[in-house]
Amino acid sequence: MPPLIRRHCVATPSPASGRRKKATGKRGVADKVDAVVVGAGVVGLAVARALALAGREVIILEAEAMIGTGISSRNSEVIHAGIYYPKGSLKALLCVAGRKALYAYCEVHGVGHRRCGKLIVATNEEQRSRLESILAAARGNGVDDIRLMTREQALEREPALSCTGALISPSTGIVDSHGFMLALLGDAQAQGAMIAYGSKFTGGRMAGAGLVIEVAADGNVTRLAPRLLVNCAGLGAQAVAAAIEGLPAHTIPALSYAKGNYFALLGRAPFSHLVYPVPEPGGLGVHLTLDLGGQAKFGPDVEWVERPDYAVDAARAGRFYAAIRTYWPDLPDPWGGRADQSLRHRIARPHLGARRRRPCGAPGGAPRDSFILTAARELVAAQRGCLRQAGYLYRR
Ligand SMILES: Cc1cc2nc3c(=O)[nH]c(=O)nc-3n(C[C@H](O)[C@H](O)[C@H](O)COP(=O)(O)OP(=O)(O)OC[C@H]3O[C@@H](n4cnc5c(N)ncnc54)[C@H](O)[C@@H]3O)c2cc1C
Repeated sequence: MPPLIRRHCVATPSPASGRRKKATGKRGVADKVDAVVVGAGVVGLAVARALALAGREVIILEAEAMIGTGISSRNSEVIHAGIYYPKGSLKALLCVAGRKALYAYCEVHGVGHRRCGKLIVATNEEQRSRLESILAAARGNGVDDIRLMTREQALEREPALSCTGALISPSTGIVDSHGFMLALLGDAQAQGAMIAYGSKFTGGRMAGAGLVIEVAADGNVTRLAPRLLVNCAGLGAQAVAAAIEGLPAHTIPALSYAKGNYFALLGRAPFSHLVYPVPEPGGLGVHLTLDLGGQAKFGPDVEWVERPDYAVDAARAGRFYAAIRTYWPDLPDPWGGRADQSLRHRIARPHLGARRRRPCGAPGGAPRDSFILTAARELVAAQRGCLRQAGYLYRR
């Protein structure tokens, strides 16, 4: 382990670390390591845990000073059931399987969570007929416990609601996302994985028989030669991929930013379930989510932005107010919603052109589809097979 990285690492060094060999490239010596994961959000930590449990020697590089400061700390913390995704898509398959695995993991590891359930509410007859098709899609995905409710049945559960009918998804829930990430990190570290904070992946290239990457920390640059590199850099994933010399540019999906604005409700939430309207094109509509402390927030909506920008336009509160009133007519006026926000990345499907300007789901963009899983082994097989298995997992 190079001293610079070691200084930033928090973990018990694995037994193999003392026997590490050096790789030489034209820009100097690099320390050979088994697996490097870039990014300590929920995806990177889960990948690092899985690799460590499989007996791999893992170093996690995190540019920030702690885990989960990116998208993973700016979301709704909902354990989704897998209702809306196209049948057979990776989103549908992974969401249903992941939800079951997540509940089981939370039970065993004492991670805070609650199966509070979710209501999808129709507020007119046209929407009520759409509940049937949502039900069919959800059942097709393996969401077995979802069912239709009459207006009266819904009001029995949530008297503050106004609706013409609803779907109830009992297996939707909420999770303490930070607690979840800490548990993943703890598992990985217990198997010898190390995490280097303040350590930013800045580039990579082929050197002899392998890949050499550069990591900036404390104003210095360290070189590592990993056998396996996994890119889990969230909003930075495209930049990480683009910084690897030799990775064909057309294999890197285009990046667009979709900001999600939230407004937190001041005061007590009138609902015990998550409440969603019938989805609208491009989003799930202004819905209500709860956290484990009982705090309610509305959103996120979808706002396309050119660059990362977390400011919330308070004027949006008016639009939220009107949307919420359709299913919660007693929302006080003024309602005192506190602005909150998040940011996600959206990418285009590669076969539709990585340079496509508008992302999937955006006006004029590709249809919404699924995750894209890409193994660099396929992408750069022509390049002497040097990148053994760097991978990407993007969420649209
Ligand atoms: C508004 C919103 C609501 C959502 N709600 C839900 C929900 O309710 N339920 C759900 O399951 N999912 C939800 N999601 C999705 C979920 O939050 C994300 O899929 C998940 O957090 C992505 O995690 P990640 O690890 O890929 O990215 P991140 O958490 O962003 O982690 C990436 C990490 O990589 C680091 N990094 C970046 N570049 C570098 C570099 N060059 N070198 C080193 N480190 C680097 C960053 O600092 C960061 O820590 C939501 C997302 C959004 C935006």
